[in-house]
Order: sequence, then C-alpha cells, then structure tokens
Amino acid sequence: MNGRRGLLDDTVRRAARFLETLPERPVAAARGAGELAPALGGALPKEGLPASGILSRLDEIGGQGTVASAGPRYFGFVTGGVLPASLAANWLAAAWDQNAFSEVSSPVGAAIERVAARWVLEALDLPADAGTAFVTGATMANFTALAADRRAVLLAHGHDVDRHGLHAAPEVTVVVGEQAHATLFKALGLLGLGRDRVVRAPVDDQGRMCVDALPELHGPAIVCTQAGNVNTGAFDPVGAICEAVRADDVRVHVDGAFGLWARVSPEFAALAQGIERADSWAADAHKWLNVPYDSGLAIVRDAGALRGAMSVQADYLPDPENREPFEFTPETSRRMRGVEVWAALASLGRDGLAELVGRNCRQARRFAAGLRDSGFEILNDVALNQALVAFGDDRTTEEVIRAVQREGTCWCGGTRWNGRAAMRISVSSWATTDDDVERSLAAIVRVAEAVR
Ligand SMILES: *Cc1c(COP(=O)(O)O)cnc(C)c1O
Repeated sequence: MNGRRGLLDDTVRRAARFLETLPERPVAAARGAGELAPALGGALPKEGLPASGILSRLDEIGGQGTVASAGPRYFGFVTGGVLPASLAANWLAAAWDQNAFSEVSSPVGAAIERVAARWVLEALDLPADAGTAFVTGATMANFTALAADRRAVLLAHGHDVDRHGLHAAPEVTVVVGEQAHATLFKALGLLGLGRDRVVRAPVDDQGRMCVDALPELHGPAIVCTQAGNVNTGAFDPVGAICEAVRADDVRVHVDGAFGLWARVSPEFAALAQGIERADSWAADAHKWLNVPYDSGLAIVRDAGALRGAMSVQADYLPDPENREPFEFTPETSRRMRGVEVWAALASLGRDGLAELVGRNCRQARRFAAGLRDSGFEILNDVALNQALVAFGDDRTTEEVIRAVQREGTCWCGGTRWNGRAAMRISVSSWATTDDDVERSLAAIVRVAEAVR
C-alpha cells in the first residue's frame, strides 16, 4: 500500500465489499459498543499510526459493529439508505474539503446549495422564494425554522428577539400536538421557549391534531404541526389549522421530517395538501431522500426572517449580494452538506422520487395486509410508510420484536401506541424491493408464530 492513492484505493475496495455483502448479511450488528471500544483503542497513541493500519482496524473491527441500515431490509427509526450518486458525491466532496459557509470560501458550495435549495422547493411544491437552510437533521431544522418564526412573531410586537433576547419580550404562546415528536421539545428548549411551557392540543386516535380543539390564540404565538407522525405516519390538518389561526403575529410550523416528502408523489400528495399554507417547514434528507447522515432542511416562507435570525456580522465577512450559506444556518464553517441532496435529486429526478415514495408506501401496506392475514393486529391506519403491529399482549409483542431482531432477516424497532406495545415498521429506503418485503414478512410471521 503506497501513499495516499493506495489508501484511497483500499478504502474503495473495503467500502465496495461492505456494500456488496449488505443485502445478505444479518441486519443487526454482530458486536456491541462495549465489546468494540477496547478493541478500537486503549490509551491515546504517543506516536501516530500509519493510515493504512487505521483503515484496516476501522474496517475489520469497527465493521463488526455496523447495522445494515443502508441495506434493503432495515425498517427501524424511519431510516433511509444511501443512494449511490449521493455516496459518490459525499466522497468527492470530502476530498475537496470545502468550507461551504460562503461563496468566497467555496464557489461550488454556494452554487450547489443554491441549485439544491431550488430543486427541493420545486419537488416539495413550496414557495420558490422561501429561505432554505442545509442543517444536520430535522431536530436542527425545527430549531432553525422556529428561530425564524420566533423572530417574526416578536417583531410583529416591536421586539427584536435576536438583538435583545427573550428578556422583556412579550410571552410567546407555543401550541404543539399531544403527539409531537420528542425532539421538537428540545428545539423549543434551545430557543428559550421551554420544553414544558407549551399548550398541548388534543389529537385523534391516529395522533392528528384536532382543529376544533385548538385553544383560542392571541399572538405572539407559534403553532407546531406535524406532517407524518413518527408512529402512525398521520398528518395534522395543516391547511385547516392555518385557516383557523391566521394572524400577523401567529406562525404555523410543520415538522415534516419524513412526511413532507409525500408531496412528491401524485399518489400520496393529497395527505400533505394544505401544508403549503404554513409559514415554515422542517424535513430530513437523511430519511426518505436517502442521503448520508447528517442532512436536514429548514424552509421558511419569509426568507428575511430566517436570514435575520441566522446572519452574522464581522468585518472580515463578505457583504452578500447573493444567497450566502452562512446567513441561513446556525453553523458558520461547515461541509457542503447540500451536495448529497443535489446528487440525490439529480439521480432520482422528479419521477424517481415519486416512485421511491409511492413504492415504500405500498410496501408498508403490503406489510400490514400480510401481518393482518396471519392473524396479527395492525394498530394504525397505514396511510403512509408506517405500520404498527401488535402480536398479542405487550409481553408477547416485546418478545417478538427481540426475536425478529435476533433472527436477522430484517430489523424493526418497538414503540408504544395508544397505551400498547407495538412493533413499528418504517419503509423508507430506496434499496427495498418487493422481494425484500416478502422475505421480511415471512421471517416476521415465522418468528412471531414460534413465540406465540
Ligand atoms: C426523525 C424525526 C425528527 C428528528 O430528526 P433528526 O434527523 O433525528 O434530527 C423530528 N421529527 C420527526 C417527525 C421525525 O420523524
């Protein structure tokens, strides 16, 4: 192995072997973190080690602790795989090592994110002049978009929160659905709006906010809705909520980590109708768009509010005429995260994206139908890509989940829904074929019958 070229060739060889064996290996990891950590390092080496040895150690030891989540039969946590074009773009961009914070530090970084932002808005059918930020995931996308909303609702009351903070600001009422995603509360906490200081709106049996039960709102206020409940996949009636609360000092935000992508599918877009009327949106790219971690999108109708909340001033910074990435994200120096979004959208095209979303939704229905036919109980309306199944009482369901994970054909996680233990099947990978669904279904039924 000589030099850098040899090292990179070796990396390609190892990565290709990983990807080639991915579809047939057990989906769960062979070794746990406790076992791996000692093998990956004792004390910090006094002298540096050769890169080739570091790589082989990473592959041979670390590889045993990988989950086949990029493979075709991983159905945990609403996890996408990685499209080949996005992986390749990620590798080349890592070699380029661009600082994508500004056009001066990386013209290609600024250009590619300009294009990727435009394509995202086009694909999701959201306003073309909305502000878009490439952030690390939906948690940060919610944080970023809500920072813009916080700015806007307080500016409507003459208070510049980004200059003066929340001190002496009018109180902001924050409404969330009873079934909001756990990470949304963290974003609210980081924004000084409080994890618990929220008004929780009642939801129906699928986790959808009930418009009629919304509290009467006086601004400044932010209503946090959801497109795609992480258990059921259900959508809040966002259009009707916008209608009900519209005012200058009220903003409606949509956490659409995976559900927002329903808008790309002619078959499933109706679920996400009305969402375009909201003020801000959060989506993950590393879930349904199938790009590598970490990648999320914050989109804000009022681009000026986003820019106002995120911009930085310093004597050495350029005076932007065009879209400068650092004016839209919480981060300043960062990698050109938008490159994988650009590559994914280019490689799928509008049709490929619609096919991916439509296929995964149909596959979730197939899971539900197959499990129901085998005598198991489906706990949700399978409207999108999520199916919740109970195999009997809670103890039995939990035992089946553990046994399915051990068996290794596929991987599904556990959750609770309406007071019951459930196995959650999330179909969101480009790599999942109908054959993978049949194989997984057969394995789940076999394991569940053995447990029962
Ligand atoms: C996954 C998810 C999040 C959190 O996203 P991260 O990418 O893990 O930060 C937030 N909201 C919903 C609805 C999700 O599904």
